[in-house]
Order: sequence, then structure tokens, then C-alpha cells
Amino acid sequence: MSSRTLSLNENIYEYLLQNIRPESDAMRELREVTHAKLRMHVMQVSPEQAAFMALLCRLMNAKKTIEVGTFTGYSALAVAEVLPEGGTVVACDISKEWTDIGREYWEQAGVADKIDLRLGPAGDTLDGLISNGLQRSFDFAFIDADKSNYDDYYEKCLVLLRQGGTIAIDNVLWGGRTADPSVIDIDTVALRELNKKISFDERVFSTMLPIGDGLTLAQKL
Ligand code: CA
Repeated sequence: MSSRTLSLNENIYEYLLQNIRPESDAMRELREVTHAKLRMHVMQVSPEQAAFMALLCRLMNAKKTIEVGTFTGYSALAVAEVLPEGGTVVACDISKEWTDIGREYWEQAGVADKIDLRLGPAGDTLDGLISNGLQRSFDFAFIDADKSNYDDYYEKCLVLLRQGGTIAIDNVLWGGRTADPSVIDIDTVALRELNKKISFDERVFSTMLPIGDGLTLAQKL
């Protein structure tokens, strides 16, 4: 026993998965089809992380949300399933191929009308939301796209969030690479610099969770 976070071996991880709220059928099928079809399936968030973000949105009574990097739509589905009537996920991605996989399961779950898919560079989509006067109106944002642009997405999401809204930032531990100063590729350096910046950022109240590949939560003050 120790007072630091437990590292999960296969046995403990399986136990955890078997003792959290089960996914909807649509979520399970979308997760399985993504694994079967795409070599890039590691980009999909884990079931426990999706469940955590869904609960977080419930706790916040989130209605308007943004997702930067939708991939095949598993995390967008997890959030859309818990949003109230009239809630939205503005889902940003550049890939029609990937997001087309999700659409069938969004429909199966009855939440396709809550997912507002925007194909194109996410920075442009976020700029468009800002220029349409939607700053300070979103409850929750999830950033999980190209790491070298994370800082730009963070700044734009901060503009779009209401006071008290929360940004979740994925892959902040980056398989341990952010913690290893000898790793200096562009994505790792971008993540490492953003992690340091957010830890001192007085515009937010933040912490970093060792869930999935590391998830930072930053609440806008
Ligand atoms: Ca990710």
C-alpha cells in the first residue's frame, strides 16, 4: 500500500473496467469497430476516461461543449449521451473517413442531433465560433488533437468557455515522454511547455490526472 496513485496491472485494470457503469451498446460497438478497422485505434480514449468525462459533464450540468479532435467519435458519443435536451458537442476534426465511422453509432444512440460535426482545421472552427460571438458561452471543452497546436486550442477554448467552465486536455503524460527531458520532438516539447504553463496559469484552477495517457482539467476562473 502506498499513498501515491496505484499503477494498474492487467488484473486491476480488468477489475476496474468490470466495476464501472457499463457503456451503452452504441459506445461498445463503436469502440470495437474502431479497434477492428483502424490501426490508429490507440487514439481512441479508454472506456474509463470516457465514463469520467461523461460524469464530469453531468456534475457540471454541461449543455454546450466543444471537442477538438473527434477521431471516430467515441468520446463525443460519451458526452452527447449525458447532455440534456438541446445540448451540443461542437466536434472538430479534419477527417471525414474517421468521423463517418462514428456517425452510425451517434444515430444508433439517438444523439446524432446533439453532435455538430465541423470538418476542417480546428483552429479555424474555434476562430469562427469566437467571431460569431460565442465567447464565454461553452461549459466544457475536450482537447485531443495534434499536439503541436495544443497551446492555440487551449487559448481559444479558454475564450469560448464561460467562467467556471472546464477544459480537459488529453495525453499530457504522452506515454511518459513529457517527463523525460531527453525527448525533444516537437509534440513532446509542445505538451511539456503547455503543462508547465497551465500549472502556473492564474486564469484557471487546474490539476493533472493519471487517467488514460494523462488528463489535465483546467477550470476557467
Ligand atoms: Ca488522446
